[in-house]
Amino acid sequence: MPDIAQGPQIPDAGYALEEIADGIFWIGDGSYQTMFVVSDEGVIAVDAPPTLGHNILRAISTVTRKPITEVVYSHHHSDHCGAMSIYPEGVPRYAHRATAQRLELLGDPHRPRATHVFDHTATIEAGDHTLEMRYPGPNHSEGNSFIHAPGQRVLMLVDVIFPGWVPFSNLALSAFVPGFVSVTEQALSYDFEHLVGGHVTRPGTRHDVHVQVEYLADLKATTESALSAVDLAATMSSIDTGNNWAVFRAYLDAVAAQATDELVPRWKDRLGGADVFTLPNAWAMAETLRLDLNSLGPFGTVP
Ligand SMILES: [Zn+2]
Repeated sequence: MPDIAQGPQIPDAGYALEEIADGIFWIGDGSYQTMFVVSDEGVIAVDAPPTLGHNILRAISTVTRKPITEVVYSHHHSDHCGAMSIYPEGVPRYAHRATAQRLELLGDPHRPRATHVFDHTATIEAGDHTLEMRYPGPNHSEGNSFIHAPGQRVLMLVDVIFPGWVPFSNLALSAFVPGFVSVTEQALSYDFEHLVGGHVTRPGTRHDVHVQVEYLADLKATTESALSAVDLAATMSSIDTGNNWAVFRAYLDAVAAQATDELVPRWKDRLGGADVFTLPNAWAMAETLRLDLNSLGPFGTVP
């Protein structure tokens, strides 16, 4: 694995804890990560990945005796928020409206409903700390929001920036890939030194965002070329062309494979997992080029 993909050793307790800025604690288990803020008024807890679960409360108790006073959902996905029920019942729970709607529809007792719902922005003022949430429009999921501590220069953006690693499969299974690419770039408009990405091994930096912007630009350009460069005759030679889905699958798989053959040598020493998830990332990029960006390749000729 490239050095850039490495993070702190995980102690036997099952989690690593690091004060990345004044009163802001990063907690990670080697795969998932989140943060909590200790202000002079109390603790603001963001997300609760089930893999960390009660270790979050144990970690909080090692640094403060103050109560948890607010809880924030980055988005609704259970791998990041499926243990939100560990937090006290009565505290305000912040979420974007799209997140709040999904929480209501799903009715999961481990992801209790939001009590403070925002459409664009929300701010938590807690003594010496301020936390600002902003929704940039659909991206990884609908509702997934920026969470910024301007005073401490910490930015949290979950399932979008993967410090030291390529994005998870199919561009992090994004609901809207153009939004996913856009918020990656928008992260750079924030003033921050430390980034909490929700994955993988370590906290991130501005440099990690620049590298991911570069990876996504390379992925897009390379996949876009492959959309029209794929040898259709060779690809279809062993396909039953009466089977419409077989034709599409062969074409899309060939596009992703061709892009991957070019991309992996360029990225395998720069980002962790480039050899694993570049193929499904190219597949997802091909589909967003075709369906969102109207770059349809050989199937897009208007008669
Ligand atoms: Zn997610």
